[in-house]
Amino acid sequence: MSATSPSQSIIDLHRPGSASDVFAGGALMAPVLPSFARQRTAIGLPEVGEVDVVRHFTRLSQESHGVDNGPYPLGSCTMKYNPKRNDALAHLPGFENAHPMQDSDTLRGLWELYERLQEMVSEITGMDACCLAPAAGAHGELAGLLVIRKHFSHIGSRRSVVLVPDSAHGTNPASAAMAGFECRIVPSDIKGRVDMVSLREMLTPDVAAFMLTNPSTLGLFEDQIVDIADAVHANGSLLYYDGANLNALMGIVRPGDMGFDVVHVNVHKTFSTPHGGGGPGAGPVAVKAALADYLPGPVVTRKNGIAQPDSDRLLSVGRMKSFHGHVGVLLRAYGYLRTMGAQGLREASENAVLNANYLQHRLAPMLPPVYRQVCKHETLLSGERLNTSARQFAKRLIDYGIHPPTLVGAGCVYFPGDLKSAMLIEPTETETKASLDRQVEIFQRVFNEDATDEALVDRAPLSRKIARLDIKT
Ligand SMILES: *Cc1c(COP(=O)(O)O)cnc(C)c1O
Repeated sequence: MSATSPSQSIIDLHRPGSASDVFAGGALMAPVLPSFARQRTAIGLPEVGEVDVVRHFTRLSQESHGVDNGPYPLGSCTMKYNPKRNDALAHLPGFENAHPMQDSDTLRGLWELYERLQEMVSEITGMDACCLAPAAGAHGELAGLLVIRKHFSHIGSRRSVVLVPDSAHGTNPASAAMAGFECRIVPSDIKGRVDMVSLREMLTPDVAAFMLTNPSTLGLFEDQIVDIADAVHANGSLLYYDGANLNALMGIVRPGDMGFDVVHVNVHKTFSTPHGGGGPGAGPVAVKAALADYLPGPVVTRKNGIAQPDSDRLLSVGRMKSFHGHVGVLLRAYGYLRTMGAQGLREASENAVLNANYLQHRLAPMLPPVYRQVCKHETLLSGERLNTSARQFAKRLIDYGIHPPTLVGAGCVYFPGDLKSAMLIEPTETETKASLDRQVEIFQRVFNEDATDEALVDRAPLSRKIARLDIKT
């Protein structure tokens, strides 16, 4: 870039006439673009020096918020610390330079690693078999539901309904619909748990599965889970576990032991990987032995002592992702699990739960918890004492360097009952007590502003280049 002065840009060199002069006969120009396909006039790209380009992109990167610049308590998303060593692992040349089309036999190290990761995911979730291919949590849901559909069609049972609780993440009913099921909504009881009376009534012979996450998206542990599993199984239906909230119970309790038959794990939430803005993810799907044959491919298995991808399984629902899935995300998950170890995972979950309860307790005078009980890794806080709203409160937090928590209630995320204005806060295990205390101070400051200068909070955020994409909201 520095060798080319602005008046002598690359674009000029490619103009008809000049190109042949400069590169005449040289290997650089072969094969030459036919003249009709060449650009005839300069296209007017800005001519800027390297330093300016670097500053431009650095400035842009500083305008977005990530866990590397401040707290990111976005409930249900688990925006946690992403160890840089995992990035280093994913960039090892042997992995990074592997080509998707290269002979599978030349990727033995990758298959070895995949096999171990499949085992670790199965172990942590209490399942027997696992496929790493799905590209995200929602994709894992689709994979798991297709497994369930295939299972019932294989045994000649017609079941066309999937139940989801009213606190479910929106992807659950969407995946059920995509997998060809009719979706019915199970109401919550006043404690925020699945309403057992309704569930029992809704468990009709056409129900294929009940999709649940535990702890729920309200941050509450479903303490009736064993009864739920019994009721679902007594009906001949299967129990699906949405693993997005696994950060609350790694190494403490396993979905398989609670009675779940199929799980997906959002490895980009629970096992590191930065994933803001809909970025890359992976949603391995794992099942109990009775469903293993239906898993999508490839599943890495050992043949003649060598780990290799096996896509040749008769009852499989088929391939759901090209090539080897999102390799970089899976490598980071592997690095995370190996460096944390069994004890480390348990401690991470314990600290995630401790941090959420600490925040719940300290914030209660300003933002009382909707469900007054011990929470798991996240807590739902009510905006009922605010003059403005939870939404405005969250927008003002942006001005103090905290990412807004997940907004719940009118016009935001779909949530049960008549919740007007609330926010779901998930501090994660990786914020220190000092950081949590600073956050409480900021919440207190915004709470005071809400009491004394409503108009200010109503205009927030005031520090961003783009404040409101839609002026109506
Ligand atoms: C994030 C999330 C999903 C969807 O996962 P993606 O990886 O974003 O596709 C599903 N369920 C719950 C509870 C979630 O929090």
